[in-house]
Amino acid sequence: MSDNSLRLVWIYPDLLSTYGDQGNALVVERRARQRGLDVQRVDVRSDQQIPTSGDIYLIGGGEDRPQRLASERLIRDGGLSRAVSNGAIVFSVCAGYQILGHEFINDLGERQQGLGLLDVVSTRGEGERCVGDVLADIDPQLGLPPLTGFENHQGVTHLGKTARPFAKVRFGKGNGVGDGYEGAYNDTVFGTYMHGPVMARNPHIADLLIKLALDVNALPPADDRWYEALRQERIAAATQPA
Ligand code: GLN
Repeated sequence: MSDNSLRLVWIYPDLLSTYGDQGNALVVERRARQRGLDVQRVDVRSDQQIPTSGDIYLIGGGEDRPQRLASERLIRDGGLSRAVSNGAIVFSVCAGYQILGHEFINDLGERQQGLGLLDVVSTRGEGERCVGDVLADIDPQLGLPPLTGFENHQGVTHLGKTARPFAKVRFGKGNGVGDGYEGAYNDTVFGTYMHGPVMARNPHIADLLIKLALDVNALPPADDRWYEALRQERIAAATQPA
């Protein structure tokens, strides 16, 4: 953070942007501007270098092949790992989440190396694909209201010793390994299976990232009415499936 200006980096919109995950960048940007911050948003295509000076980095979900390419390119680029060692905040969804872990199974059925920024390993679920609305309780340490999102993944994710579960599932599958957890985080690096876009359903997550970037405990209130209406609709969909 410098001079009231927040640098927001949206990684690889050309590869990782399923289910409107790019909406996460819009919501973080809007919530920051509503708090009087000047936001510089950089969208980095997969043939461009990742800047290392960002405050918040966002990565979305993707199909299996783009996921393989994205992981290869992110490792070769090295910028995201450097940014994290400098204290950057990262929030990743689905394929992006798997890429941030130590490894995942790619579209060729091979184990592929991830960035190792999250202490998780993803494998291919043996059962049915995890699809549907999810309701989960976020780790109380983060002080956020319940998580609502939409999941659609075959991969399942096992947490290592140092990763904290992001949330505990009430309805839905989440990480899909039977421990009831959804997502994971290590310090300022977060991963979730939730689409939605997840920030549109959970604007408090966007606020959390902004607070971490500003190193403050609270932000001025913002108008949450539209978000709240969407939350209630989607929570009802998760708890009373058709
Ligand atoms: N390809 C991954 C899986 O199915 C991620 C899917 C996604 O990002 N929606 O597990």
